[in-house]
Amino acid sequence: MNKMLYNQTIMDRSRLIDIEDRGYQFGDGVYEVIGVYDGDFFLLDDHLRRLKRSAEAIQMMLPCPIDTLKDNLKQLVTMNQLKEGVVYLQISRGVAERWHQYPSNVSPVLVAYTKVEETMKEEAKNGAKAIITEDIRWLRCDIKTLNLLPNVMAKQKAVENNAVEAILHREGIITEASASNVFIVKDNCVMTHPANHFILNGITRMKILELCYETGIPVRECAFTIDDLRMADEVFISATKLDIVPIVFVNDHKIGTGDPGEITREIINCFAAAIQDLSER
Ligand code: PLP
Repeated sequence: MNKMLYNQTIMDRSRLIDIEDRGYQFGDGVYEVIGVYDGDFFLLDDHLRRLKRSAEAIQMMLPCPIDTLKDNLKQLVTMNQLKEGVVYLQISRGVAERWHQYPSNVSPVLVAYTKVEETMKEEAKNGAKAIITEDIRWLRCDIKTLNLLPNVMAKQKAVENNAVEAILHREGIITEASASNVFIVKDNCVMTHPANHFILNGITRMKILELCYETGIPVRECAFTIDDLRMADEVFISATKLDIVPIVFVNDHKIGTGDPGEITREIINCFAAAIQDLSER
């Protein structure tokens, strides 16, 4: 049986969730999904830095120092012999009598487990369809909290329309997608929404920006509209373990030539090389 991590104790998957766990009752907690490639974490430090930032944003303590957490996560991947997949890690504020305000003297509850997951190879090669829907989330999308119902609803709408993702807009401005960041390419320039309160600043997104700067691909963090997206030469999405997927149809509208574009392919290759570097270390 796969092992999971529960407040630093590695245990079997049999622990019960307390009915008064605040993560369960209020979504009062934060999480991370960290990619594992060929048995190694990718961008682990960046994920843990974001976890700490999310916890601080909701005035929640972490149950242990980041370095201890890092060691335990590595141990978990080794014990479960995970080669390709993700580690899901969540920390709730803890267990307390049900009142909305933050309780005092509460201990955060950490749970982590491994999940086998492949990248979307077929879609990465041929491109995929997305739909557009309204972004009905709150105004702190930069915090990776457990409250995901609007994201769940948007993704469900995508699936019902045979699409891989739901791209979200606020009053006509594209923010991100239900579980990924969105990029467009216009006249050889890559564009993505600025990292403010309207989006989750994806770890994959940040890596893509870094790779663009390193390889000299022009890139801008700027707001763009639904029309800009429809008229873009290329569109792609990014997230942990999904990596990068070209979007060739938005609703029933073809993007560019209807095939993954040259710049998207170049970024996909750079990203694959960064993962490869990891296994050669
Ligand atoms: N935006 C949202 C809303 C997400 O849920 C995710 C990932 O789950 C992302 C963006 C991509 O973030 P990352 O690249 O860190 O996985």
